[in-house]
Amino acid sequence: MVIHALLAVTLAMTSLPAQATTVDCARVKCLALTFDDGPGVKTPTLLKTLKKAGVKATFFLVGKQVELRPEIARQALAQGHAIGNHTYSHNSLPALSDNEILDELKTTQEAIEQATKLRPKMFRPPYGHTDDRVLGLANQVDLAQVLWTGTTLDWKLRDTKKIKAAVLRLAKRDGVILMHDTVPETVKVMPEILKELKKRGYHLVTVPTLLRGKGPEPGVSYP
Ligand SMILES: [Zn+2]
Repeated sequence: MVIHALLAVTLAMTSLPAQATTVDCARVKCLALTFDDGPGVKTPTLLKTLKKAGVKATFFLVGKQVELRPEIARQALAQGHAIGNHTYSHNSLPALSDNEILDELKTTQEAIEQATKLRPKMFRPPYGHTDDRVLGLANQVDLAQVLWTGTTLDWKLRDTKKIKAAVLRLAKRDGVILMHDTVPETVKVMPEILKELKKRGYHLVTVPTLLRGKGPEPGVSYP
């Protein structure tokens, strides 16, 4: 009996995927850090920082950039981060035709799938520009929409102290923070940000972990 129980526990443990070091966001204070517009030249540095801190994040990748740096997309996924679609050419979607929007989403799905073997379940519209038509078209491509609860405007601040202050000001339980791995100052200050957020009791998780298994569902907008 004891041996059987031990065996069952061992089997259960070995069959868990690497990512499922289960953080239950219903019980603990969670926050999702999200990075848009990569993979960029600074993304490997950011991945090292996240790995060292044992933190999982979410990357919304631009199709064109994935084609330039597929190995970085692969590395992000291998480290247990979540990956989303941020369109192929980073245009404002509501200004485009239905076919153009579908093309932006589909070509990026293909680029990410080719690079990582994974087909994303989430997309984030460039500049946060979206409407019901965009959401309906995303649904056709089996994508959920992920926006944010706080944007750091790191691309405009370009200052490590100000970016850190913005993240700490915007941090809240179950929040989704928007940053860019293409902003060198964001990547540079990330070790300090992670240290402070942990000190404040946050568990830094991917967007799917934050959704507690209740998503991402195609055609639904989060958070
Ligand atoms: Zn963007």
